[in-house]
Amino acid sequence: MSKGSGSSTSLRFLLIVGVLAAVVLGFLGVMYILAAVYAPTRLVTGIVLIGLALVISALAYRGTVKPKPIVVSWSASGPIKPEELKCPSCGAPLKVEDPRTTRVTCSYCGKTVEIVEEPKW
Ligand SMILES: [Zn+2]
Repeated sequence: MSKGSGSSTSLRFLLIVGVLAAVVLGFLGVMYILAAVYAPTRLVTGIVLIGLALVISALAYRGTVKPKPIVVSWSASGPIKPEELKCPSCGAPLKVEDPRTTRVTCSYCGKTVEIVEEPKW
């Protein structure tokens, strides 16, 4: 039942990679802006690099605040029956208004459940 144990590890890895990339890009951007004294076109490159660093760090930050999803794997193929959904944390039945939705928040314990359809083959 606990198939989602690896997702938090990969998320942390992505966060570390993102922070490292942001630091490297930010450093390069500062270097380019400093070097713009000799070539003004480097200023543009520096600003672009710093902008990229900001975007990556913002994405990495958003990854950390995201609620921990519980991945529910489905052995049955075909459409998901909403009455079969149960909260993996407290066992309460989960209501799914939209059958295409991938995330349901448990009304009992407030945990976010990520629905992952996994065919048997
Ligand atoms: Zn629950």
